[in-house]
Amino acid sequence: MLEREKLRLLELWESQRLVKDRHVLEAFRKIPREMFVPKEFKDDAYRDEPLPISAGQTISQPSTVMLMLDALEVRPGNKVLEIGAGSGYNAALLSFLVGSKGKVISTEIIPALVRFAKSNLKKAGIKKVTVIQTDGSKGHAKEAPYDRIICTAAAPVIPQVLIDQLKEGGIIIIPVGGAWGQTMIRGRKIKGQLETEDLGGYLFVPLRGRFGIDSRATE
Ligand code: SAH
Repeated sequence: MLEREKLRLLELWESQRLVKDRHVLEAFRKIPREMFVPKEFKDDAYRDEPLPISAGQTISQPSTVMLMLDALEVRPGNKVLEIGAGSGYNAALLSFLVGSKGKVISTEIIPALVRFAKSNLKKAGIKKVTVIQTDGSKGHAKEAPYDRIICTAAAPVIPQVLIDQLKEGGIIIIPVGGAWGQTMIRGRKIKGQLETEDLGGYLFVPLRGRFGIDSRATE
């Protein structure tokens, strides 16, 4: 049943050419999303909908996750920073995309979700993701610079500190706007400046912390 629904989503993205990067489709095929949603939602793992995880947070709907990864253009060997580990699902897909020579660092501000992400990744047998409990709106300077940065919560503006932690030629994907709607932005760092492109309207949970919409830091 789950397998059939998974195939249906893959067929949809392929037929409508929504996802162009074949590695992104392959990552979706390989990583079991059902291991990253709360038990009670297992049967809904391949519905194209966001699902609640805990603390009012959500795992984004599959089409949104795929669109962001397609736009991120991850290459084997890349070092990637994620802001908002949540369930750990996106980090798992990223770890497939960077391959054995790459590195994925995923930050999460809510302690219960740090535990959730770590335990899901462990269950799924994914060892190459480092989940760090921290305010990711400030990035993670210790491992910078990054080839790619992906933020899975809504920011009021693109924090300059994230641009600073991006390599020259690197790409950042981040939803930018207010709490009730955002524009997905893809930025590429060229000669120290971000060249941005608008990828459409979305609705994400607010980024918390120092450079977030919601400054109730739970660090
Ligand atoms: N990528 C996740 C979905 C994330 S939902 C997945 O695949 O499941 C957004 C997440 O961002 C939430 O878990 C929220 O707690 C987290 N978050 C919000 N503000 C943050 C911040 N400043 N630093 C790190 N994580 C943050």
